[in-house]
Amino acid sequence: MTHATQKVALVTGASRGIGRAIAQKLAADGFAVVVNYAGSASLAEQAVADIEANGGRALAVQADIADPDAVERLFAQALETFGRLDVVVNNAGILQMARITTDNVGLLDKTLLTNLRGSWLVMAKAAEVLEEGGRIIALSSSVLGKSFPGYGAYIASKAGVEGLVKVLANELRGRKIAVNGVAPGPVATELFFTGKSEEQVQSIANLAPFERLGQPDEIADAVAFLAGPQGGWVNGQILRVNGGMV
Ligand code: NDP
Repeated sequence: MTHATQKVALVTGASRGIGRAIAQKLAADGFAVVVNYAGSASLAEQAVADIEANGGRALAVQADIADPDAVERLFAQALETFGRLDVVVNNAGILQMARITTDNVGLLDKTLLTNLRGSWLVMAKAAEVLEEGGRIIALSSSVLGKSFPGYGAYIASKAGVEGLVKVLANELRGRKIAVNGVAPGPVATELFFTGKSEEQVQSIANLAPFERLGQPDEIADAVAFLAGPQGGWVNGQILRVNGGMV
């Protein structure tokens, strides 16, 4: 395949966890991949090296998705290096637990900054530059269906993301670009394990009839479906991928 015809995907937060699995899967499916990260330069370079070792093409780009200038630079570097963009996956996100109290409003601001403002910026830029037939995929969370105590800021941010997905799908009328969300249940990553006891982890894992956590690869498979030829007629939807948790 020549460089001009190879499709290109950009994945935010692809240095580790679910994003890294998505980058790897899309590379295996034939995309050149932009591996975005916030601070983990060596992990991102490792992800790129893994893709290249399997015969793929990839580029690591640092950018805080909540910063408009950084997002501008991220997309510019992607286009400069690979010449086109077909798929953008906004996966970068943070989770910090806090109950809904006046004291915790700073945590709401911080969560919205990355998860909602970051999604807005990445999805907006994707809408601007994607090729016809392009796909935008945003990561939400199945925890919206559970409303657990302590998840207020996170759920508010992801409810916002689901809103953006549906509105943007309508705003892109005539462009042949599909916009969808993927809402994982609990997945074995740093984001999920941080701050939880072994007992808490087990009881959350048991919520799904399959009685286990999801793996990053299982989320990547759903994203790859939406990004690939078989997902073309899915638009404006939120796909829950959670082993039946909700
Ligand atoms: P991890 O914490 O394992 O990885 C987060 C990734 O996002 C890292 O690559 C990190 O980069 C990057 N990141 C964080 N903040 C920013 C930022 N401001 N700008 C750019 N990149 C950033 O998370 P997961 O893989 O678990 O989660 C991925 C997505 O899936 C998130 O949106 C999350 O909300 C969602 N999700 C996760 C679930 C789970 O149980 N794990 C369940 C449901 C949804 P760096 O390494 O440089 O810090």
